[in-house]
Amino acid sequence: MSIVSNGDVAAITGDGRQQGLAVYVLTYLLWPGILAACLCGTWLGCAAGKSALYFNVTYLILAVSLFVLERLLPHEREWLKNDRQMGADLAHTLLSKGFAQVLVVVGVTIGIAEAAASKGGEFWPTHWPLFFQVVLGLLIAEAGLYTAHRLGHQWSLVWRFHAVHHSAPRLWFFNTGRFHLVDTVTSILLSQPLLFLAGAPSDVFIWVNSTTAFIGMLTHCNIEMRFGPLNYVFNTPAVHRWHHSRNPDEGNRNYGENLMLFDLLLKTFYLPDRRPPSNIGIDGPMPTNFVGQFAQPFRRDQAAVPGSEG
Ligand SMILES: [Zn+2]
Repeated sequence: MSIVSNGDVAAITGDGRQQGLAVYVLTYLLWPGILAACLCGTWLGCAAGKSALYFNVTYLILAVSLFVLERLLPHEREWLKNDRQMGADLAHTLLSKGFAQVLVVVGVTIGIAEAAASKGGEFWPTHWPLFFQVVLGLLIAEAGLYTAHRLGHQWSLVWRFHAVHHSAPRLWFFNTGRFHLVDTVTSILLSQPLLFLAGAPSDVFIWVNSTTAFIGMLTHCNIEMRFGPLNYVFNTPAVHRWHHSRNPDEGNRNYGENLMLFDLLLKTFYLPDRRPPSNIGIDGPMPTNFVGQFAQPFRRDQAAVPGSEG
């Protein structure tokens, strides 16, 4: 993308499209604006004592909004084409997100968080303003999520499950939840107990998990947006598209789920000044239907861990 000053053209996108000033400014406002609107939904849900209901409504509105924006302002036009894997994407999403949400709802309902808080409460800064408690919760969860994700790329036993997510031939809001159930459970087991052990109260759980869900869908969407310095703080589509590269030197980077802090600290952050590849996926066997994808990690023939010789 480069900026030009002739006529009404304010910018040229990476694939040569011209953008006027209004659209150019909009591309900077979309990501933070949409995330802020979603977090308002979480705030309203907490205030009404109906966080699960408000979350689901907000998540649905987010999905519809991204679907429309992907058609109005696509990042990669090729990714608008039907890949005939929507059924598989939906089934993985319902199974993984449904399982995760049931865990959260059950955990909050039966008071696991409160029980943990009463034991670990002395460690958790309950006197801090909620905003800073949520930031702390995001950092603690991120340590586990980063570890789980990096393991998924470097350990063949975990990669065979994570490969389902990376086998998607395009990125769009709809395949945000395309994770094998075992992959989802691994991420949950490596992140949520850290919050329990730290004694995080249930409000913090709700904020951390809903923020993760909103950022996750925004991260995978196929919308032409700009992020500026936000790329160094959050897992934006700009950094995550590199993570889906077939090239292991590019794909084995940017493991952050919400935040890029651990990528920056552990030198896995990657954001070159060029357009990320549109031809994404994995080199190795992966069926295109849900049942085949669910069974693939248990088969003998596996896609090699990215960057390995095998
Ligand atoms: Zn990955």
